Amino acid sequence: MNTTELIKKSPLVAEMARCRETLWVNPDRKGSPVGEKIVDIDEAEARLLRFAPFIEKVYPEVLEGIIESPLSEIPDMQDALAMDTGGVLKPADIPGRLFLKCDSHLPISGSVKARGGIYEVLKFAESVATENGMLTEDDDYSRLAEPEFRELFSRYSVAVGSTGNLGLSIGIMSARLGFQVTVHMSADARQWKKDMLREKGVTVKEYPDDYEAAVAQGRREAQADPRCHFVDDENSLDLFAGYAVAGKRLKAQLDAMDITIDEDHRLYVYLPCGVGGAPGGVTYGIREYFGDNASCFFAEPTHAPCMMLALTTGLGNGIAVKDIGIDGITEADGLAVGRASKLVAEAMESRLDGCFTVDDGRLYPYLAILQDTEDLFIEPSACAGFAGLPLVAEGRMGVPAPDENSIHIVWATGGNMVPEEEKTEYYMKGCRMLGAI
Ligand SMILES: *Cc1c(COP(=O)(O)O)cnc(C)c1O
Repeated sequence: MNTTELIKKSPLVAEMARCRETLWVNPDRKGSPVGEKIVDIDEAEARLLRFAPFIEKVYPEVLEGIIESPLSEIPDMQDALAMDTGGVLKPADIPGRLFLKCDSHLPISGSVKARGGIYEVLKFAESVATENGMLTEDDDYSRLAEPEFRELFSRYSVAVGSTGNLGLSIGIMSARLGFQVTVHMSADARQWKKDMLREKGVTVKEYPDDYEAAVAQGRREAQADPRCHFVDDENSLDLFAGYAVAGKRLKAQLDAMDITIDEDHRLYVYLPCGVGGAPGGVTYGIREYFGDNASCFFAEPTHAPCMMLALTTGLGNGIAVKDIGIDGITEADGLAVGRASKLVAEAMESRLDGCFTVDDGRLYPYLAILQDTEDLFIEPSACAGFAGLPLVAEGRMGVPAPDENSIHIVWATGGNMVPEEEKTEYYMKGCRMLGAI
């Protein structure tokens, strides 16, 4: 089918082609059971536990060596979202309790990529050390910080193509273990990310084309070298497993807060989506642990709605936003992706509740209001989830309407590593857009 036919057949694709804010409700979502097992969450969690003594040793600030983030209730933000902003944001009167999942403050790399990215690097390190007869699963993994392991890992390399945050996670952890590491970055990646990586001894290669081109080049170079592990953002089951552990951890976190999720206390989760790996893995984990009582939604920029396009057309990674005439350009770092992951598009068919798109112009006002009300900074892309709240509250996302027993979690995917100057710049921009200064 060509573009004109697609647009003629689907009014939604026509809306997307005009870069309008729009939404898609998944007609194929399944209750429980959700579908076939894709990754083993318990196995991934066990591996992260084996590595905890190592993480604690080399990053003493990481409590018990477990890379996890706070789940913060944000009642003042919830009140502010109900207020009139003169049309800048749609007011949302949201029944229930509102939380922010602060992956923006995950230790080591300050974004959701610290889940999947670091997990994949650790798994590779474990397999290299095991294959070389230097490690067994029963060992104390803090040994991995010793010079003989650095020497071993220096004979191997890790490569990744990235718009930024994945590169940070992979780069930082690989370099810390002693691997040679190359990050292939699209030219639109932020300068501070490239600088930070180079400072840590990471080789950064830049590409004038977009993200897809950077990934393709990284994959080609890595395939030529048998000692090189390529982290494939579009197809990796290891990344997916690392993200999926979040579902299990979230369950434990809610239990510890005495919050029960059941059919009378439903969970609504709002996740920013780029290629799909992070929100897809998290959604997989959430649906495994909360079944039919959780609804997950992806937020995408109006200029890069690759997952909504993949799912609404059923074409998966066989279609890109350029195919319907959209440029894929957005200020939301990490979300400027034109083609969705095939693995994730397929995994989401039965699990995701829906997608919605957000204009870049709304991200900064959300950012500024969150800073003012809760004293929390998250990066612009991480704010995309907030735009789903009014849609769910108004009953437009095809899910049971929330009530006072509902729990809403906006997944804040990044922010902590952003340099102070840029934080201020983003905040001021949001204030200006709200007419506050
Ligand atoms: C990477 C990223 C996402 C989306 O993750 P994908 O796996 O690309 O879908 C969202 N927000 C931030 C800040 C990110 O860095």
